[in-house]
Amino acid sequence: MAASDLIAFDKPQQADLDRCVHCWLCLNACPTYRELHVEMDSPRGRIYQMVQVSSGAPVSQSYIEHIELCLACRGCETACPSGVEYGRLVEAARAEIENRVKRPWLVRRLRSLVFRWLLPSRMNLEIAGALLFLFQASGLKRLVAMLGFLPARLREVESLAPEIEIPFFFGYYGKTLPAEGAKRYRVAFLGGCIANVSFARLNEATVRVLQKNGCEVAIPDGQNCCGALHVHAGIRDEARKLARRNIDALVDGGFDAIITNAGGCGSTLKEYGELLEHDPDYREKAQRSSAVVKDVNEFLASIELNRDMRPVPVTVTYQDSCHLAHGQKVRSAPRELLRAVPGLELREMQLSDLCCGSAGIYNVVHTGMSMSLLRKKMDSVNATGASVIAAANPGCMLQLRAGVRRLGHGQRVAHVVEILDEAYRGGQRT
Ligand code: SF4
Ligand code: SF4
Repeated sequence: MAASDLIAFDKPQQADLDRCVHCWLCLNACPTYRELHVEMDSPRGRIYQMVQVSSGAPVSQSYIEHIELCLACRGCETACPSGVEYGRLVEAARAEIENRVKRPWLVRRLRSLVFRWLLPSRMNLEIAGALLFLFQASGLKRLVAMLGFLPARLREVESLAPEIEIPFFFGYYGKTLPAEGAKRYRVAFLGGCIANVSFARLNEATVRVLQKNGCEVAIPDGQNCCGALHVHAGIRDEARKLARRNIDALVDGGFDAIITNAGGCGSTLKEYGELLEHDPDYREKAQRSSAVVKDVNEFLASIELNRDMRPVPVTVTYQDSCHLAHGQKVRSAPRELLRAVPGLELREMQLSDLCCGSAGIYNVVHTGMSMSLLRKKMDSVNATGASVIAAANPGCMLQLRAGVRRLGHGQRVAHVVEILDEAYRGGQRT
């Protein structure tokens, strides 16, 4: 089916809108409503606006702003007793905006650069990663900061940029790494897009932990970005292209599981069946590949965990990834894994499943709202007295690191699998 034929389905569907009975039970779970106390920035208010547009009201600037200020965190889905699939609705609303509204020239160019040139291409990610590495490692970054060249807005965005890690994880593509001890599973690991250049050591740690747990780990060469950022931005034609390429690379590989260490990516990978539900050539393959996608926490908690670990005597607080907790409903697995580490004390923070304000590129586009949420998150983190903040999504890790730099008490931010890796390696950090 041609991409243009699928556009007809890229708008909120009446059956999904009809599920909302306009009660109020989701309001307190919504970070933007908690901040602004504006009905139009609540889930109920946004659904009301979607209903208006679906009944013929124009896609106004005000509608666009309220829909775009949503974090797509899906906290409202967890709170909703009527089973409203809000994530599906907001993604469709953004796709409709993308298809019906012509954005200003510069915004179109920037979106095209990020979503169509950078993220889908391994070569372009490597070029951008190498340039950013030179900027960070050569001292130029420090010099620019000292001289105050950058305007305030750019300074703020630059402070949220990831540290580049060499060598990039792309070097593992096409390789299969053996299980340690008896082979119990054959799994595929997805390296992500930006994570290949900015979380290369986390990806290596994930592979090591899987090997320690009897997995032969294949890192298929044909994989690419999962398309999660595209889906959240409403750019579904590009998301579908990326999904089809991933499915072709993975679906017939005979894998027990397709593993990701990013909550946001996992949510989209599990929803390929929905993204391609109207594509007769891929519908069935998409459902088959989504059926074996597992977040690394979910997978490890579902198997007999290798408990041959050394003590890691730290106090840890865990920040839920929205797309892991609300999208995939995986909440207990990361906590079980942390509790399995000898010497580790887990201290729950208040509202651990309220968004930290990262939300893909939300923190760059809506920095004010994002930082306001981060401030509150850091208050909750600091109140626990924990020295480590564990997370299950690289995007959350970046945001929390920015939070520690601005408002923290020197906490270390680590992925759950990095802590497991440390326990397996006798205290040696990733
Ligand atoms: S997805 Fe998050 S920010 Fe958006 S309406 Fe739901 S709770 Fe609010
Ligand atoms: S989304 Fe669910 S909780 Fe929120 S107003 Fe609608 S029915 Fe009520």
